[in-house]
Amino acid sequence: MFDTIIVGAGFAGAVMAERLANERGQKVLIIEKRTHIAGNAYDRFDEKGVLIHQYGPHIFHTKLKHVWDYLSRFTEWRIYHHEVLGSIDGQLVPIPFNLNSLHALLPDELADSLERKLVNVFGYNTKVPILRLRESDDEELKWLAEFVYEKIFLHYTMKQWGVSPEELNPHVTGRVPVYVSRDNRYFQDRYQGMPKDGYTRLFERMLSHPNIKLMLNTDYKEILEVDPDSGLIRVFGQPFAGKVIFTGKIDEFFDYRLGELPYRSLRFQFETLDQASYQPTGTINYPNDYDFTRITEFNHLTGQRDSRYTTIVKEFPQPYERHTPGREVPYYPVPNPENGDLYAEYRRLARELDRVVFLGRLAEYTYYDMDAVVSKALKVFEERF
Ligand code: FAD
Ligand code: UDP
Repeated sequence: MFDTIIVGAGFAGAVMAERLANERGQKVLIIEKRTHIAGNAYDRFDEKGVLIHQYGPHIFHTKLKHVWDYLSRFTEWRIYHHEVLGSIDGQLVPIPFNLNSLHALLPDELADSLERKLVNVFGYNTKVPILRLRESDDEELKWLAEFVYEKIFLHYTMKQWGVSPEELNPHVTGRVPVYVSRDNRYFQDRYQGMPKDGYTRLFERMLSHPNIKLMLNTDYKEILEVDPDSGLIRVFGQPFAGKVIFTGKIDEFFDYRLGELPYRSLRFQFETLDQASYQPTGTINYPNDYDFTRITEFNHLTGQRDSRYTTIVKEFPQPYERHTPGREVPYYPVPNPENGDLYAEYRRLARELDRVVFLGRLAEYTYYDMDAVVSKALKVFEERF
């Protein structure tokens, strides 16, 4: 009945389903264990009619024109450039830490001198990962690096990951580099914005095709069996000759036979307030205070103006435990060398299965943004289907 079976209705699964149905005329079944599509990008209207992101704030940004153009088939965009402020020493300063943050937090003379040095050493409009800045030879820059490390990175990272920045692959803190610039935006990508009618609507348009069948509320193991040793696949107990695209956790797929890949989880605390506005920017980070990392107010992102209420969300990081309700969602893979090695071993098992394609943040154990997942899915589609 089906040519391809897809596990997971997030970006990885939805892009593949759309491509296979529209470009290859395939019949596709998507199996999704949640009660809705869109994976972690899922958004919905809350009880007071405010559009919220159920699994944390999602801002779309990309350098990749082909990804932007592809998604633009399913949505119009609201122009939106995300700005984040950090609550540091009782002041709100731009994050990523930039020249404006420097001048806001430090005395004029010192800030002027540091600005000159940053521009001389790295150049204007450059991005310098904090772990790189800490290696500076210059004493004053070294001092700045320690200041930024302590005020912005150390305690936030300890909260978010339970470990210090050096214990993670450098690309994690490198996502939010010190920016030698006065540009206060969180991202500088050429294409950025929010789907005008929300992410869920975008997914609905992607998946609305007669050849795409969707089975929600179903763990794939209820209907799909793949024998990792022989490669045999059964669906509803019947042999299946097509391909499987798997976007869930790769360690789960192999029944954890090599051990568990670690994740970080989050608890989201939503608060709906009877007021039009709560904070000056979409997100405010609290590196050094409270147990949450950041507060996001959705109406900045979505542009929604038709409610007298506003909804905010606080993100409380917590360990991931697959059997503990409330901690069972694997939001973040934990990028470090040890976990990379374990993933590589799973990857070796995966390569033996030529009819199963592992794709996405969970299946590739990779800290992907949305655009990277879309780009990877488009590539895999071209190369393997
Ligand atoms: P997912 O969206 O996780 O989809 C996988 C799907 O598979 C899920 O729906 C899951 O329920 C399903 N599934 C898993 N196991 C099974 C099973 N056993 N049976 C059936 N179904 C199963 N990216 C950005 O670009 N910008 C942002 O601002 C941004 N903010 C983020 C904020 C947070 C808090 C988080 C956690 C992520 C954020 N991301 C952001 C990343 C973004 O969420 C991911 O890049 C994207 O969702 C990955 O898509 P995916 O399809 O790989 O995974
Ligand atoms: N980070 C930090 N302080 C901040 C912002 C980010 O220490 O104010 C570090 C932290 O380790 C975080 C990482 O940079 O996990 C990546 O931040 P990003 O905002 O990209 O995380 P995401 O939106 O994916 O949760």
